[in-house]
Amino acid sequence: KAKEKGGNIYELYHPDMNMRSMHRLNLEIELRKAIEREEFMVYYQPLVDLTTGSIFGMESLVRWKHPEWGMVSPGEFIPLAEETGLIIPLGNWVLKQACIQNTKWNSLGLAPLCVSVNISVNQFMQTGFVQFIEDTLKQTGLTPNLLCLEITESVAMKNVSFIMETMDKLRMLGVQISIDDFGTGYSSLSYLKRFRVHTLKIDQSFIRDVTTDEDNAAIVTALIAMSQQLKIKSLAEGVETPEQLAFLRERGCNEIQGYIFSTPLPAESFENLIKEKKTLYLH
Ligand code: C2E
Ligand code: MG
Ligand code: MG
Ligand code: MG
Repeated sequence: KAKEKGGNIYELYHPDMNMRSMHRLNLEIELRKAIEREEFMVYYQPLVDLTTGSIFGMESLVRWKHPEWGMVSPGEFIPLAEETGLIIPLGNWVLKQACIQNTKWNSLGLAPLCVSVNISVNQFMQTGFVQFIEDTLKQTGLTPNLLCLEITESVAMKNVSFIMETMDKLRMLGVQISIDDFGTGYSSLSYLKRFRVHTLKIDQSFIRDVTTDEDNAAIVTALIAMSQQLKIKSLAEGVETPEQLAFLRERGCNEIQGYIFSTPLPAESFENLIKEKKTLYLH
């Protein structure tokens, strides 16, 4: 590229690029410190059952409260955490917090809640992952079926036999498994059945304009019908409007998550919702 522009090799060190790599390096240093200093928090977003309108669980979503930058969203640091391997200590920390928190909530004697935790490819493929899950359940006293692991579709496609084995072991432990962001990756539909997942999470990019875009409407309709046939629950992500909700209910979608009901919340606020038994208005 530099040569085309007149052979000036110094163009390789374009100031913009320097800025970008500086930013990246800085972010990486801060991320490493953040893990030691425990600057992370876990937020919880309600998952709602569409037959009853009530909360049956919550997704744990990590937040980084940086001392100077304020709240940094996962979109900004999860990719870097993945690249640097920091996702493993971070992801393990989130998982443990989520289990501790859910054990507490379930001991309140309200309806049993299932906590979902996002698991990165690297975490899932790590040797000893299943053992780590088993140990965490034991240490935190959480009933295995009140933990759900969210695995993105792209993860699910590399190294199929290893994944099948790991999924089998997890299922034997009694934990639930969801396929996250379904429709955005490369998975073959036949794997869905082979992996015997509990829930298919339809990516929010399909839900966003489901009531105005015919193609997305067709895709969502087909995904819901397919999960019904395969006896897998369907959950729509990113539901914001009553129109989207009506569309999904008409087609028999089982569960939703989205701003129409609640944004992700700090633990105390989530606890208030469950104590007041907030329900989704279904007419
Ligand atoms: P995800 O697992 O697909 O999580 C759902 C995302 O959609 C969350 O973004 C949530 O805040 C957002 N969302 C929920 N309802 C709505 C809605 O109605 N409208 C809109 N516009 N957005 C909605 P968030 O918290 O920024 O997280 C982004 C992604 O970061 C997650 O996507 C997940 O892939 C990743 N992530 C978050 N926490 C963790 C973690 O602990 N470990 C790993 N490996 N990844 C995580
Ligand atoms: Mg998720
Ligand atoms: Mg998702
Ligand atoms: Mg998503």
